[in-house]
Order: sequence, then C-alpha cells, then structure tokens
Amino acid sequence: MTVPYWVADSVFYQIFPDRFANGDPTNDPQNVHPWGNPPTLWDFQGGDFLGIMHHFDYLLDLGITAIYLNPIFQSTSNHRYNTSDYYKIDPKLGDIKDFQNLLDLAHRNNIRIIIDGVFNHCGRGFFAFNDLLENEDHSPFRKWFHTTSFPLEAFTPGEAINYTAWWKIKSLPKFNTDNPQVRQYIFDVARYWVELGVDGWRLDVPNEIDDDAFWQEFRHVVTSVNEDAYLLGEIWTADPRWANDKHFDGLINYPLRDALLRLLQTGTLDMPHFANKVETLLSTYPRENVYSMYVPLGTHDTERLFTKVRCNTQKAKLAFLFQFAYPGAPAIYYGDELGLQGEKDPDCRRAFPWNQSSWNLELYYWVKTLISLRKRLPSLRKGEYISVFTDNSNGHYIFSRSLGDEQVVIAMNASDHPQHIDIPVSKLGWQDGRQVLDLFTNKRVNVFGNILPIDLPPWSGTWLS
Ligand code: CA
Repeated sequence: MTVPYWVADSVFYQIFPDRFANGDPTNDPQNVHPWGNPPTLWDFQGGDFLGIMHHFDYLLDLGITAIYLNPIFQSTSNHRYNTSDYYKIDPKLGDIKDFQNLLDLAHRNNIRIIIDGVFNHCGRGFFAFNDLLENEDHSPFRKWFHTTSFPLEAFTPGEAINYTAWWKIKSLPKFNTDNPQVRQYIFDVARYWVELGVDGWRLDVPNEIDDDAFWQEFRHVVTSVNEDAYLLGEIWTADPRWANDKHFDGLINYPLRDALLRLLQTGTLDMPHFANKVETLLSTYPRENVYSMYVPLGTHDTERLFTKVRCNTQKAKLAFLFQFAYPGAPAIYYGDELGLQGEKDPDCRRAFPWNQSSWNLELYYWVKTLISLRKRLPSLRKGEYISVFTDNSNGHYIFSRSLGDEQVVIAMNASDHPQHIDIPVSKLGWQDGRQVLDLFTNKRVNVFGNILPIDLPPWSGTWLS
C-alpha cells in the first residue's frame, strides 16, 4: 500500500483559521471586524489557534478525526494564500508554541492535522521577491521567478505584465520551480513542517507546477520523514495523472460534489448520468487512491452546501447521507454541519456561529449520526461499492457497500414525491426471510420474493443492513 493507512477511516473537518473561533483577542489586527460580520476580501475577524483549542470539545463531540487547516503561515491576507514567510506561523493565529500545542492536543485525541501548502506562488512579502523588487537584476534571487524586465510592476493597478503570477494577479508571483535552489527551498519547507508533526499537506493548485519530477521528489521528501503523511492535491477535474504512487494519495473530489449537487437541483442531472458519473469516478484512479480521496460538499472556494440546496434541510441531509457512504474520506467544511450559509468566496468564509440559536439542529444531529455510523461500520469506509438499482423515472439510486459479512444498502429517493421502492436484492445474496435493519429508524424489514420493500419521503435516503 502506498497511501497512508488512516485516510480511508477518517472524517475530515476543514477550518478557515480566521473564522472558526477567536481564542485570543490580543493577537487580533487593530482593524478587526466584529465576529459574524458579512465577510469581505479584506477583513479579519480574529480567529486563531487558541480558538480552535478552546472549542476542541466541539470537534471531539461531533466525532471528526482529522482537520484540514487553510494556510497558517505569515501573510497579509485573511486567507493567507499569499505567503510572506513559509517558516513562520502568522502572529494573528498565534506563535509556533501555540501551533505545537494544537498539534499535541489533536494527536492526544487521535486527530490528525494537515496544512495548506501554497508552493506555486508566494506573496509579494516573501523575502526573495522583496529582494528582487529592491535590487532588480542585481538580486541574488533573480532566477527565483519568471521576469521579463525591471523594475517589476508589482503594485500598479492591472494584471502582472513583466513577471509571471498566478492568474496574472500581481500579489501572487509564481515561483520558477525549474531553478534547483527554489526546488530545494520548497522541499526544505515541506520537510520542516512534517518533522514538526503535521500529518500531511494539502497542495494548492499543484497542476500549475506541471512537473512530474518535482512532485515525485516532493513526495519522497515528505514520506522519508513520515511514511504515513497524507498528500492531498487540489485538482478540480477527474485526472488520473495526479493520484497515484508518484504524485498524491488523494485529490479533492470536486467532480463527485458537482454530480451530487446537480442531482439535488431538480432537472439539472438525471439519475442515469449521476450513477454513471459517481461510478466512473471509482475506476478513474487506482483503488487505494479512490479510498484516499478527500470528499467535500463545500470548501472555502465554493458556495456552501446549505445555500446550494436553497436551504432545503432534506436535500442537505441526503447530500451528507451519500457523501458518508461513498469511498474516500468525507470532509465537512466548518459550519456546514449546522446549515451555515454562504455564496461563493468571500461569503462562504463566514464566522462560525457559536450562538446555537442559529443552528439547524436537525441537520447537525443527522451529521453526528452519520459520523458515528460510518465509524462503526467498516464496510462504509473500506468495502466494495456495488451498484444495485437505478430508476430514472422515479429518481431512485440504490447501491451497497460490502466488506466480509457486513453489507450496507444505501437507498436514495431524489425526487419531489414520496416513493415506495422494491429493492431487488438477489445481487446481494440476501435470501427471503432475511431481516434487514434500517440504521436510522431501527425498524426491521423482511426480504420477500427477492425484494426488500421500503418507503422513502421526498429527497431522502436511508442505510439498511
Ligand atoms: Ca484572535
């Protein structure tokens, strides 16, 4: 096995550090906005590591087992994708001691933490780019970036003209990763934080470093420190180039999210296309990589789930039900478990609402139940995925996960109508007279005539075993 053993068993929780919890007002920037203000491109709301530690009981109670932190290194923005210093924790989040305390707290509770690695580009405050701005072609870092003329037009309005930048955004100069010094610098950073104890890297836009040898070396550097470190690539498409034993263990499974959310928007994706999509994704990569995918319903780069389903709690519950039954580690974007809303960024980066009066408790308890069932049932994490039955005209999709003697049938009704479904179970080897338990209602149903008869309300699903 070339993937970390723990990923398939994990439930991830993604935290945008400025917006989860503010545990230390003394490190807030002077112009901090009140907690819960509508997010803007510029504002800080004061979230930090101490806030995460103060609310660690919330995470433990929810049941998650791994955390993905958006960037934490010193930077000038609230998202911190424009790194100033790859070796320094942003003082607005705490210091290295606070980060180590967070890692220790997590590890004591068997929770792993992966962090965001932004190595395609840096910020204008990064020392080598700063040197280049000051010294132009006399700079020793002349070849660390892609420049065409001096002085660099790094602060005038408009697109980057005389140096390469991510999407021509002047604040994000692109590294020249063909330069061995730059490669070494990045590999040293990667090694440093894994030696410090982080459990892996989520790699930002890694396809823009279009260099297989670079990523193979990156992988070698990281796994030589910790062979169980998780390498997660931010790849938005289904592309087998990137998930294998020479690149990343898993990718962010955005194509799965897209198919699922389109299914939930009536009329945008019919059931056969949905089934084909989600089943094709299972064979796009080596099996161990499929089971090491990071499976989100939303991230800091997308509309939030509850907004996407137009605040329909049933649809949100159905989305989570499918996510938690699909191979790969389900990932919860902080606040999605209680129906936090948000349009595309920056709106999807709202502050976590600690006042419970705004929580969607039906959704919250549903997610908690899904987490605990998934942890209890190995078949949902490691079992085979077997397509059982698709009914396009009525919006039914039935599949099973099976491992050894354990079999779970997942039934979905993606329609506006209550449905009676006669599930054909001969494919599963279920004999007449077998008693099957609905894992949510604890009701028992008998197989009769090779059929398992169930009833599902509109936009709902269940797990049967
Ligand atoms: Ca703070």
